[in-house]
Amino acid sequence: MPIMETLDPVHARAFPPAPPAGAHEALRRFGPLPTPSLEWNAQVERETAHLYERVKSVVPTIEWPFFAPYVRAINALKKERNAVILAHNYQTPEIYNCVADFTGDSLQLAREATKVDADIIVQCGVHFMAETAKILNPDKTVLIPDLKAGCSLASSITGDDVRLLRQRFPGVPVVTYVNTSAEVKAESDICCTSSNALQVVESLGAERVIFLPDEYLAKYIASQTKVKIIAWKGHCEVHERFTGDELRRVREADPSVQIIAHPECPPDVIAVADYTGSTSGMIDWVRKRMPKRVVMVTECSMADNVHAELPDVEFVRPCNLCPHMKRITLPKILDSLLNMKEEVTIDPAIAAKARRAVERMVYLKS
Ligand code: SF4
Repeated sequence: MPIMETLDPVHARAFPPAPPAGAHEALRRFGPLPTPSLEWNAQVERETAHLYERVKSVVPTIEWPFFAPYVRAINALKKERNAVILAHNYQTPEIYNCVADFTGDSLQLAREATKVDADIIVQCGVHFMAETAKILNPDKTVLIPDLKAGCSLASSITGDDVRLLRQRFPGVPVVTYVNTSAEVKAESDICCTSSNALQVVESLGAERVIFLPDEYLAKYIASQTKVKIIAWKGHCEVHERFTGDELRRVREADPSVQIIAHPECPPDVIAVADYTGSTSGMIDWVRKRMPKRVVMVTECSMADNVHAELPDVEFVRPCNLCPHMKRITLPKILDSLLNMKEEVTIDPAIAAKARRAVERMVYLKS
């Protein structure tokens, strides 16, 4: 079914949000801790050797003496603070493989966030992911190491936009991709991720659905369902840069190469791909098929993280970096745990409404 209509953003937006008043409340509650030694020595080398084993195929030996003292200090601080680290698939290998307690895509992290038995959650990802963790864990302290880690999709739409859409299409349910602010989730009927978007759209039993805010994901879902989709013109600045032409050139150079793409990519990219799926779907596809050479048409760090796990698979470029994900670094994670920065807070009334939409997705029967 083709897209019924695609609507444009109508408001100018600023992102990231200003830190809310009381952002230093977490520091008052937990107190600061002294900076540990960050010296590289034989003891640090010994204690982190098992972690270097996990990343040695993607982290050069010469770089490990910089990372290892931070890795050791962060892992010790997690215990001291009773904290857990959630890391998205797009985090760099030393974060993803060496300090994270839980890794995955947005849906996996949202689910893990509901199970954690910890006082503090450090979200190594972008701001909307930290908000989702806070929405599902209102009694826990949620930190993001850099408050400016935003997202072009999340900043493409506001709660006002959703209210206007509801006025224009009364009675049409609103499905919102998790890559949105808490305010936008609060205005939605149900959330979805790229791995369950089709299931969520069809679960509503509606003839028409407003699907926000990713235009390309909306087009991909529209191509797979009879439900009429009303879309929004939001794009991921990382995935929209790929083109079908560049991938055709890669395939011409090696006809045996496998191309797998994220559904946030433009339709001409998806048309060239052998498989289209969420980040977790792409990882599972590579694990099961073990292709000799593969292009992962998504954020670069994901290929590095899968390559660390499956060194026999060759990952062929192109890939694009997400500048927001790359704001999260080991020194900032350490600072976050030492000085309780930056706390993510949400207006309780907005959080309660957003929680309904997120929980409806999380508990949808699969
Ligand atoms: S990769 Fe795209 S969707 Fe993901 S955080 Fe970056 S800008 Fe947002």
